[in-house]
Amino acid sequence: MPGFFGRFFRLSMHRLAFALAAIALMLGSAAHAASSYAQTRYPIVLVHGIFGFDSFLGTDYFYGIPGALTQDGARVFVAQVSAANSHEVRGEQLLAQVKNILAITGASKVNIIGHSQGSPTARYVAGVAPGLVASVTSVGGVNKGSRVADIVRGVVPVGSIPEAVANSVAQAFAAFINLGSGGLGLAQMPVAALDALTTEGSLRFNQRFPQAIPAGCGSGAELVNGVRYYSWAGTQPVTNLLDPLDGPIGLLSLAFSEPNDGLVAACATRLGKHLGDYRQNHLDEVNQVVGLRDWFSVDPVTLYRQHANRLKLLGL
Ligand code: CA
Repeated sequence: MPGFFGRFFRLSMHRLAFALAAIALMLGSAAHAASSYAQTRYPIVLVHGIFGFDSFLGTDYFYGIPGALTQDGARVFVAQVSAANSHEVRGEQLLAQVKNILAITGASKVNIIGHSQGSPTARYVAGVAPGLVASVTSVGGVNKGSRVADIVRGVVPVGSIPEAVANSVAQAFAAFINLGSGGLGLAQMPVAALDALTTEGSLRFNQRFPQAIPAGCGSGAELVNGVRYYSWAGTQPVTNLLDPLDGPIGLLSLAFSEPNDGLVAACATRLGKHLGDYRQNHLDEVNQVVGLRDWFSVDPVTLYRQHANRLKLLGL
């Protein structure tokens, strides 16, 4: 890393100023050209996963995403729900915030986009108050559980995974949580969250909220009770060696024997119309850490912008 930054500092001031001016010009023209691209009829509400912060490593959890959507004409709100709790508790918190957003904006519905546990959190709101929700979109959503949660909770069937691998995964998960959330230890994480994220806990939740959950690995119903459902996912655990969390995520991926993003199997993320799988790990899905992702693959921010445009064209 020092070498990486050193090269930047060795740039002459002249070249640096020129580069900054060029970037400012590009951003200015992009903002002008794309000013209504993401201008959805209903406000967009972003819902975070288990880390439970509106910022992650000192930055926005959805890194650069609210700004990009706003620049393209969307009204964007970032929800703040419990760091770690059941889908139902987080869902009630989100429902209250949705009602506030509707009161503030005068809108009759919202478009909710949830990452990780943010997906079942959003599904709860759509399930109990479908009239307030235009769409629910799952990004790397834990809709059918996480094998990592199964291992950490010790509910993986005996013999289904080597003990050494299980131990590595549990330790990597603890390190991952510590790194990602500035010292929140695994022990502080409420058991309710982990239980909800296990395969068994997710199946229980899905019995109560089956809307748009597919039977297999394909798409589910796109329209249920007037609410549209969408999902996309990552299937590449290690994408950028400069990202300090790629190591732990790579270890977590050892828990899986199928395509996954390091924390969730691709098939467990499906909800409504499946929009695609991408070369992203669980944190690339929210453009973390600070935009460190597979630079030869699609920009995660672009997927959010394209989806907002999709919702706009549907009149949502
Ligand atoms: Ca990353």
